Amino acid sequence: MDQVATEMQPMVAPNYSPLDVVITKADGCWVTDIDGQRYLDCLAGYSALNFGHNNPVLNRAVTDQLHRVTLVSRAFDHDQLQPFAAELTELTNTEMMLPMNTGAEAVESAIKVARKWGYQVKKVAPEQANIIVAANSFHGRTTTIVSFSTDAVAKDFYGPYTPGFRIVPFGDINAVRDAIDDNTVAVLFEPIQGESGVVMPPDDFLPALRELCDEENVLMILDEIQSGLGRTGFTLACQYAGVQPDLVTLGKALGGGILPVSAVVGRRDVLSLLTPGSHGSTFGGNALACAVGRAVVKMLDTGEFQARARNLGKILHARLQEIVDAGHLAQARVRGLWAGIDVEPQLGLTGRQLCEKLALRGMLCKDTHGSTIRLAPPLTISEDDLNLAMDILAEVLAAQAAAVGRN
Ligand SMILES: *Cc1c(COP(=O)(O)O)cnc(C)c1O
Repeated sequence: MDQVATEMQPMVAPNYSPLDVVITKADGCWVTDIDGQRYLDCLAGYSALNFGHNNPVLNRAVTDQLHRVTLVSRAFDHDQLQPFAAELTELTNTEMMLPMNTGAEAVESAIKVARKWGYQVKKVAPEQANIIVAANSFHGRTTTIVSFSTDAVAKDFYGPYTPGFRIVPFGDINAVRDAIDDNTVAVLFEPIQGESGVVMPPDDFLPALRELCDEENVLMILDEIQSGLGRTGFTLACQYAGVQPDLVTLGKALGGGILPVSAVVGRRDVLSLLTPGSHGSTFGGNALACAVGRAVVKMLDTGEFQARARNLGKILHARLQEIVDAGHLAQARVRGLWAGIDVEPQLGLTGRQLCEKLALRGMLCKDTHGSTIRLAPPLTISEDDLNLAMDILAEVLAAQAAAVGRN
């Protein structure tokens, strides 16, 4: 070997630019890096870790199942799938479940089944089905899903793109109405746009959308992969608006931050259009995934985590409002234990720079774009730790305001 030290060549494809923190272990809402430094995790795996790191209940479910059976392929049955389906549909007040692995696969599956319903039931013109989606949405990374992304970074150079999507402004019921035609099979929206920075539609949007979909015979699909499973203080974020969609996609927290577990839940008459062989997945519905999913559903069944998100969310809201009032945040959008915050532009701080400063103070979170960051700590966070996170955020922003002469 050459004696001269050479810079190591990167071996990981550079489709991420993580903060300069290398985590080696984690427990609850705290993670520890290779230097022994501890950080409060205020991103929680984009809500995949709603129940915290190293959760003993989830760990037990995984280790018990690990030694029994993990995967049989769907060519055979195992004893975890039927109970998981029964429990998840009961939790979400739905009729049927299709198990998949990643969130993007759940969204792809919902798109496929909605199109099939369109051709076979609604009788739309062959190959002409369209689905209405929102600008600034995030539904995953497959070629079909990025085909209707409005984010150039996520979309550019991945064409040719899948046709059949109509993009409307988020939360604009009149735009949805105008976009619907005889070949519209579904609308597909996030009830709250997560990646976009926890952006909420007007309160009357989801009820109006439900009514419009009924009038026009269009399936209402909500992507609750990030918003669902307790984050907003409800099992599903759409419960805030009191609506029942036709199909819901779930993911992230469904696997407890341990395994990728996703699902489409919804109407039996729609999901039962999937006949044997017409859709599938080697790992979808595997025994280990179902065991984790069952443990997640069981925790949500008690309502304890939804209540935590609601109650701690009040503290989160109040603390962020203080920072808004101090003039250091331009806006804070909060629902449950989930917030999108926009740094006051006069502070001259990008979201990325803020996250770097917070990391130095022992708090991890992630910018979404520009000067917006998203806060989503585990729902297991203590009131003290939440207040600690808010103290750190307030101090870092106040220091920046002082540095630019705006205190
Ligand atoms: C994360 C996310 C997805 C994609 O999930 P993956 O598991 O990364 O494929 C889809 N929709 C929403 C709303 C998400 O937040």
